Amino acid sequence: MIRERAYPVDPWHIRETRLDLDLLAQSESVFALSNGHIGIRGNLDEGEPHGLPGTYLNSFYELRPLPHAEGGYGFPESGQTMVNVTNAKLMRLLVNDEPFDVRYGDLRSHERSLDMRAGTLERVVEWVSPSGQGVRVRTVRLVSFTQRAVVAFLYEVEPLDSAARLILQSELVANEQLPPVSKDPRVAAVLDRPLQAEEMLEQRSGGLLVHRTKVSDLRMAAAMEHLVETPGRHAITTEGHADWLRTTVACRLEPGQKLRVVKLAAYGWSSMRSLPALRDQVGAALASARLDGWDGLVQQQQEFLDAFWDHSDVRVEGDPEVQQAVRFGLFHTLQAGARAEKRPIGSKGLTGPGYDGHTFWDAETFVLPALTYTQPSAAADVLRWRHSTLNLARERAQTLGLQGAAFPWRTIRGQECSGYWPAGTAGFHIAADIADAVRRYVQATGDFDFEREVGLELLVETARLWRSLGHHDRHGRFHIDGVTGPDEYTAVVNDNIYTNLMAQQNLMTAVDACKRHPDLARRFGVDDEEAASWRDAAAAVHIPYDKEIGVHQQCEGFTRLQEWDFENTPPEGYPLLLNYPYFDLYRKQVVKQADMVMAMYIRGDAFTPEEKARNFAYYDARTVRDSSLSACIQAVMAAETGHLELAHDYLGEAALMDLHDLHQNARDGVHVASLAGSWIALVAGLGGMRDFNGQLSFAPRLPNRINNLDFSLLWRGLRLRVNVTDEEVTYSLRNGGGSARLTLLHHGKEIEVTQVRPVTMPIPSAGAVGPSPSQPAGRAPVRRAAAHT
Ligand code: BGC
Repeated sequence: MIRERAYPVDPWHIRETRLDLDLLAQSESVFALSNGHIGIRGNLDEGEPHGLPGTYLNSFYELRPLPHAEGGYGFPESGQTMVNVTNAKLMRLLVNDEPFDVRYGDLRSHERSLDMRAGTLERVVEWVSPSGQGVRVRTVRLVSFTQRAVVAFLYEVEPLDSAARLILQSELVANEQLPPVSKDPRVAAVLDRPLQAEEMLEQRSGGLLVHRTKVSDLRMAAAMEHLVETPGRHAITTEGHADWLRTTVACRLEPGQKLRVVKLAAYGWSSMRSLPALRDQVGAALASARLDGWDGLVQQQQEFLDAFWDHSDVRVEGDPEVQQAVRFGLFHTLQAGARAEKRPIGSKGLTGPGYDGHTFWDAETFVLPALTYTQPSAAADVLRWRHSTLNLARERAQTLGLQGAAFPWRTIRGQECSGYWPAGTAGFHIAADIADAVRRYVQATGDFDFEREVGLELLVETARLWRSLGHHDRHGRFHIDGVTGPDEYTAVVNDNIYTNLMAQQNLMTAVDACKRHPDLARRFGVDDEEAASWRDAAAAVHIPYDKEIGVHQQCEGFTRLQEWDFENTPPEGYPLLLNYPYFDLYRKQVVKQADMVMAMYIRGDAFTPEEKARNFAYYDARTVRDSSLSACIQAVMAAETGHLELAHDYLGEAALMDLHDLHQNARDGVHVASLAGSWIALVAGLGGMRDFNGQLSFAPRLPNRINNLDFSLLWRGLRLRVNVTDEEVTYSLRNGGGSARLTLLHHGKEIEVTQVRPVTMPIPSAGAVGPSPSQPAGRAPVRRAAAHT
């Protein structure tokens, strides 16, 4: 686990001031760079030592059999695993014939720094070889946001004290050997040599490798080229082999002289394009990168990020550690989605192989809210990708004997890849999560073209799923039985409230959208009778409630299950899924992650404030947060129920998930949902932002230690800025000219903001708040009020 102080607090950088080999794998995830299309882990330039080498292309996967100990009808038989593709990061240095390797010689200093404003990772090392030759190495790398096929590296090396002969070998390597995996189901399958060589081209200062996967039949090309500067003479050669290509630069330098090499690399992949077409594509990408050169690429990256931070930054004063972590979270959210372009966003982005690179509801429910209000086109693209998989989801529904579309619980290409159906197929709420993301996007942007192009069909097919999955009982109540909600420790249940309320919203959103586009709805075969059946189902959705103790039941019968013995569960018993049988978890009141609490956030319009307060206290005491998707949502409901210190604590946990490796699996990639969730915790939590029924509302309140919160968001093309202090809130519009007006609710009171007239409102006093909810023994979050920064 990363110790608290691994990265010094700094508002815009993640700095590692010394190399800890025991934490290499974690730091490779933290320092991973990506643009949503290409991802490279923060591996050391020289490749060794490494925790987990990794280079990924969005949606580039291999198929593998999904064995079931006991098969059954409808079980998916084929899994998809993200492939570790050709590595372009490798740059090995020899100093007077001795390999530069941090494990040998004397590592005088080693610092890496992720600059979140520049979008670059810099490394500065001073090293003395075993025979006594000192060198200073500085490298900078970036995955371009503006040229999505391009990755660039700057490598500078200078001898210290005496002249030295320097040889730099820069490579492309396919089919790298990967370390064996553990038994943790959350890590990925390891594929043995997944890439088959198709072509190799060597030129003087670079070249190209083309490979193909064996079963999924995808082709990829990687190309590189080097621009070399030395004060004197240098020699450069390239040699290649089916699985590697190596450009070698050799020179002799005096102290104070520098070898400077810019390595430009380009990637492309396709399931359809021919080898020559792909070869030309990466050639063109390299030509474009060469045109701008290193300085041009760095400048474009900076401009892209300047624009991003200008409209997406969240400033938090009073807790600098959380400030840094929230920016880190936003940076990784951007990296995961910025250039995904009609491809999914995986639960680890492209930062590691965890969960096989699959996308889950994490994308629609945790990442898309942040993107919808900051980078809406990236959110639309993810939903366009979902839409492109609609036929597969229809087929899956048919296999399951259902109507409409059954989207996969986890996938890369669109087919269900979960081998464990109680926490896979039964997680039907993914359908309503997608519908909710469509609703949110259309509402926030007013993009009705999108609604016609993809939104309506997604809404109609998911509504059909709910209508066929649920049923009216003899009293007319509508039940959805045998499903699993967000809490994977309570599976295959009847009437999970989250699922029921989300389905209800899905059905009604579909009804409304059909009214907006009657022609298109008819084309999709929706008639009055079908729409009426959706309305009836929605109106009759059953919401289980325990009258005796006065709380809602996460699912029918939940509150009468046996309590989990938290007192006698040792700290090393967590996460419970690795130490206790599902059989036992399923029959007890133990909650893996916000479920009922999630329902009270997303469908907050369905509960009274008193119900929220009672339910939150009840479920917080039973929620162990074994999923990283929990803390951010608990932060939101803690804030709404007036427990601002607890909200701050949960916010800290969500934001620091990877910087502190809180779940001890950051090595497999960062937790994108939790990182994006820190935006939710701040904006919806402390900012109290909601968008029920198209009405934007805020109810900000700050915990003691935070004295200012400032964020901006996009609403129907208007850039609203919200600045919160202890006593008041200022709402202002940053664009829109004189005529634009935005009506919103501030703590329930309607106000109108224009660009010329910001509005400042006092924060009403909170009123009486009950005692702070308790958590299961040993599971309380770190108290931010006491955390030193
Ligand atoms: C959580 C799911 C989540 C998945 C991927 C699981 O541990 O229970 O809700 O979608 O991880 O992040």
